[in-house]
Amino acid sequence: MIRSVRPHLAAVAGYVPGEQPRGATYIKLNTNENPYAPSPHVAEAITRGLDGRLRRYPDPVGQALRDAAGRLHGVDPAMILAGNGSDDLLTILTRACVDAGQPVLYPTPSYVLYRTLCELQDARGLAVPFRDDWTLDTTAFRHPRAQLAFLANPNSPSGTRLTPEQVAALAAGLDCLLVVDEAYADFADGNCLPLLKTHPNVVILRTLSKGYGLAGLRLGYLIAQAEVVAQLMKVKDSYNCDELSLLGAVAALEDQEHLNSTRGRIIATRARLTATLRERGFEVTPSQANFVWCPVGPRAVPLYEALKAGGILVRLMRYEGFPEGLRITVGTDAEIDQFLATIDTLR
Ligand SMILES: *Cc1c(COP(=O)(O)O)cnc(C)c1O
Repeated sequence: MIRSVRPHLAAVAGYVPGEQPRGATYIKLNTNENPYAPSPHVAEAITRGLDGRLRRYPDPVGQALRDAAGRLHGVDPAMILAGNGSDDLLTILTRACVDAGQPVLYPTPSYVLYRTLCELQDARGLAVPFRDDWTLDTTAFRHPRAQLAFLANPNSPSGTRLTPEQVAALAAGLDCLLVVDEAYADFADGNCLPLLKTHPNVVILRTLSKGYGLAGLRLGYLIAQAEVVAQLMKVKDSYNCDELSLLGAVAALEDQEHLNSTRGRIIATRARLTATLRERGFEVTPSQANFVWCPVGPRAVPLYEALKAGGILVRLMRYEGFPEGLRITVGTDAEIDQFLATIDTLR
């Protein structure tokens, strides 16, 4: 027999991304994409990059992006590592920190990729359940031999957020890196950046996919102590970010005005969606992200199917020990109107 992939991979399901139907004209409220176009400066920057320089390799470290992110957050660019989406950075962190069999902490229900990355690494994923109020028990979210901990904050699918004080308490209880995945921080009332000064084991993860409306570009970055970044550099692909993505991402980061205006629109629509669903009798978890979570239990599958038949895709999510629910991305006002009208036909 041919020795092929590592045997444990046969038992790994692999991550299943939200549906990305090609050609169909669904209203897509299932993968938390931004309904608004990115800054027009992004296309300008990418177009300027098509001047022949693509025959060369890109900057291996993406220094222009590190400088732009450093300026934006007021940190040393040596503390920034750019990735091909923040998923790339999650993979780099897992490969860099965790050996087979070693414990890795993450909460549940949360971003399912954390579990998948542990499975791929043959690590021991330890899923710590959120409490009913979507906080975490600090004494439960620890393990003496944990090699890495992930925390999506704001969390998906709940849209809830631990305060920086609560995250600081988690970090203080860990002897390993705590990756605070802030994919949705652009829609929240605050973030954990200040913890970088007080808790050297905190790693902050940001992405251009959600707030900046650039999921197709594939660019994320992490912020950590410079010594940590220097080690992670060894693990990443030599050219993990392409020239055009780097150019576009720098332009996006430099247009904070655009970010602020789309963020404001999404937050206003989120409030309206939440209030309207509650009027219709749905339980809606208060959201700090660009989606809302409705734990609808056994109605989840029929609602999901009926919405899909009506041309609307939402994300059906199931987590062991928690009620099934629908995660609904905040779209444009017109999209949300159509979603609500469809919901009304189903009651
Ligand atoms: C969307 C998302 C990401 C992935 O972001 P990319 O930069 O597109 O790879 C990471 N973490 C969480 C919690 C997300 O929801």
